[in-house]
Amino acid sequence: MSRYDTIVIGGGLVGSAIAYGLARRGLKAALLDEGDVAFRASRGNFGLVWVQSKGIGVPEYQRWSRLSSELWDDFAVELRQETGIDCAHEHRGGVTICLTEQDFAQRRQMMERLRLESGEPRFEYQMLDHDELRKLMPEIGPEVAGASYTRYDGAANPLYLLRALHAALLKRGGHYFAHSKVATLKAAPHDFTVTAGGATFSAPRLVLAAGLGNRELGAQAGLNMPVQPERGQILATERVKPVLGMLTLLVRQTAEGSVMIGESHEDVGLNDATTPDVQQALAARAVRTFPFLRDVRVVRHWAALRVMSPDGLPIYEQSQQYPGAFAATCHSGVTLAAAHALRYAGFVANGALPAELARFTGKRFDVQKAA
Ligand SMILES: Cc1cc2nc3c(=O)[nH]c(=O)nc-3n(C[C@H](O)[C@H](O)[C@H](O)COP(=O)(O)OP(=O)(O)OC[C@H]3O[C@@H](n4cnc5c(N)ncnc54)[C@H](O)[C@@H]3O)c2cc1C
Repeated sequence: MSRYDTIVIGGGLVGSAIAYGLARRGLKAALLDEGDVAFRASRGNFGLVWVQSKGIGVPEYQRWSRLSSELWDDFAVELRQETGIDCAHEHRGGVTICLTEQDFAQRRQMMERLRLESGEPRFEYQMLDHDELRKLMPEIGPEVAGASYTRYDGAANPLYLLRALHAALLKRGGHYFAHSKVATLKAAPHDFTVTAGGATFSAPRLVLAAGLGNRELGAQAGLNMPVQPERGQILATERVKPVLGMLTLLVRQTAEGSVMIGESHEDVGLNDATTPDVQQALAARAVRTFPFLRDVRVVRHWAALRVMSPDGLPIYEQSQQYPGAFAATCHSGVTLAAAHALRYAGFVANGALPAELARFTGKRFDVQKAA
């Protein structure tokens, strides 16, 4: 049996960020990950560090997302210094484009509500009408009504990010175990034993960051993590010269020049196949927004499954039944990577979650069940 300070289950963006965060604090962390057949949102996502629109009615969530976006600047530098891997992090603000005047009016209301709820006098956003937006993005089509802008939004290359987190973990003395799907999990207060990949691991702390696998694992550690899959499809075009000066929620140009087109949401269970109807809808919306895309070839199309809680918010909690076991799951693992590594890992290391994360307990779903 190998003894560790913490066992982290799940080597996607959430588990890897937390495991790295523990290792950089000097804790001996074991990161257990499933085989190559696994569902991995971390390898199929859009790569935005996105803050605007997050946390309507839940100011804790917008503050947590904004904190992560602020931490990301130094975090990207740290990962590059630790590993030599550049995550292509950019933090130049982003726009959510509205195609109709009605969307634009609704968006304005939503942004104003976010500002009022933020509890921070510094919260800033701008509503840009068509002409103002065109100055920033001359490529927009005539149909575009306008957009909301915030400086908090950014992006990173999620594949480089995942690689950097794994490399940084190893460099700081952490251990990554691939092909190690959890076979058994024995929980007692501050005492966890896990068998995976033919080996046995024990530790006084356990972090459940297994994406869609958390539903089953959570129950074994006294944590309610009722996550569900939600399919998203993404198109990537051939590389073109830099044209898009701004990040948007639907379309972004990568550092290499490909244009990524995304934002679809489907409830189809554990099915990560692509479909032509969604491909067409994504392409049509992208061309309405940016007509030049009509002449750019799509070269790749993939689907991946988001890890969604019933209300779309993260689940962070320490098990009352088995103290030392922590839940960690969210639907924005790129955005929150910096907060997970630089803050959440510290809370786990110290053995207590702060009051500002109390809103994210999985117990909120017990209440819904009882109601
Ligand atoms: C189409 C799409 C677009 C997205 N766009 C963005 C975006 O722009 N910005 C953003 O911030 N987020 C985005 N996301 C969400 C982001 O990808 C996820 O929040 C993030 O990847 C979740 O990471 P995770 O580590 O929780 O889950 P996963 O990546 O699914 O990783 C979970 C890991 O746990 C392992 N595992 C599961 N069960 C077990 C077990 N029993 N034993 C051992 N290991 C186990 C799996 O093998 C897997 O490696 C997007 C997601 C999708 C699908």
